[in-house]
Amino acid sequence: MSTADFSVGRLRGAPERGGIVDHRLARRMLINQIRIGRLRRDEVCDAHPELIRAAANVGTETEALCPVCEQENLRLVTYVFGHRLPPHGRCVSSAKELRQLSATGRDLRAYVVEACCGCRWHHLLRVFPV
Ligand SMILES: [Zn+2]
Repeated sequence: MSTADFSVGRLRGAPERGGIVDHRLARRMLINQIRIGRLRRDEVCDAHPELIRAAANVGTETEALCPVCEQENLRLVTYVFGHRLPPHGRCVSSAKELRQLSATGRDLRAYVVEACCGCRWHHLLRVFPV
């Protein structure tokens, strides 16, 4: 898979067309499904290599342990998608960069994703307009 394959549709928990999703609820339900054995780890620990690379290089480490493997702390990555940005979005690593994008006045959305570099679990945490 290349960078070009990466898109907003690759982010687990991304809102379905038109629907509003409570990302945290969706995440909790998914984790429960794994715990009770309804889902296999490999069905959900399938982060795109691009996402894992971004998480490892520019991601912000959190204090939270990965809910799936419980071996590594989760890392947060922010992607911005929207008008005149590449289809695979722009990975934003600082608040300053986000402010610069915001200053363009374009219709952009930031997607904050948690990812585990250990088991490749990933889930969308929140989406907000830039
Ligand atoms: Zn993990």
